[in-house]
Amino acid sequence: MRNALGLMLMSVVAATLIAAGGWFWTSPSRSATAPQTVAAVRAAPAPAPAPAPIPAKQAASRDPIEVTGSIAEKMPQALAPQPKQVCANPNALGVARVVEVDTTGGPGFGFEHFKQMDFLNDKEVVLTFDDGPWPGNTPAVLKALADECTKAVFFSIGKHATYHPEILKQVAAAGHTVGTHTWSHANLNSKKMTEQMAKDEIEKGNSAVKFALGAAPTPFFRFPELQHGPAAMAYLESRNIAMFSTDLDSFDFRAKNADQIINTVMTKLDKRGKGIILMHDFQKHTAEAMPTLLQRLKAGGYKIVLMKAKAPMQTVAEYDDALIKDMKLPAASARPVGSVVQTVSQ
Ligand SMILES: [Zn+2]
Repeated sequence: MRNALGLMLMSVVAATLIAAGGWFWTSPSRSATAPQTVAAVRAAPAPAPAPAPIPAKQAASRDPIEVTGSIAEKMPQALAPQPKQVCANPNALGVARVVEVDTTGGPGFGFEHFKQMDFLNDKEVVLTFDDGPWPGNTPAVLKALADECTKAVFFSIGKHATYHPEILKQVAAAGHTVGTHTWSHANLNSKKMTEQMAKDEIEKGNSAVKFALGAAPTPFFRFPELQHGPAAMAYLESRNIAMFSTDLDSFDFRAKNADQIINTVMTKLDKRGKGIILMHDFQKHTAEAMPTLLQRLKAGGYKIVLMKAKAPMQTVAEYDDALIKDMKLPAASARPVGSVVQTVSQ
């Protein structure tokens, strides 16, 4: 946070987080390839009430489309259970532990901005990737992770998800966690950003990722450029969406090559000993760095922790509907062409 008001708000947020308490369910995973179902160790606080959805007329006026409110029900609510994946690499980095997060009240992670949730043990690492899905680079990151039988958290940009839904589906199918990163990567802490605009960026992004996946994303969110707007933070808390900053920023977006990314990450990690690492599957050099970086993590004795959520994200129906209309998808009740158009004379 940059100023006194920000610090005050952070204090309030921190107090709220501490007061709510009990976000974690955690247990060691016995296998590198088949994380066990995690067991509850603390009771979950009661869910906060959901905010009132935006009236359809407002959504329609922003998106210049008509909203009927009926199509969102056609979108599935959760991913089907994934089959257990077999790891062909006996020396794989693997997944040491899976933690399940109760996102009630919107807890924050990553010590750069949120210092309440110190859940990682020494040598434990969470891999996170932002700004995808993107052709070439995201599949390359997925391959590197698969070769090491390990898992990560992806924060997808809504627009990119609508451009390349098939790639985002591959991310989810591989067992990675898919969170969101706004619709268009807007700075939610900008002076020009009204509360309504920030809400639209967040919710449209959420609905876009849901649309691309064909299932609800995980209620994990990362602010573009790590710009934590206080109003947007309060909104995410009310929506029970966990916020992710970072412990270790790879600064991969400005790296000249893969080696620079590997050196930055390993130097910071060896100093801190653990942490949530921020990278970008959107970046070519990051994709190039992954095979070696994962091997370096293994050689350094680091262990991968996968973060999941206790429940899927609840998207807002009006935004789901608006997005589907915006994508010019056919109405759910569309009849087969053969029942509409028939040859009667040749
Ligand atoms: Zn980003």
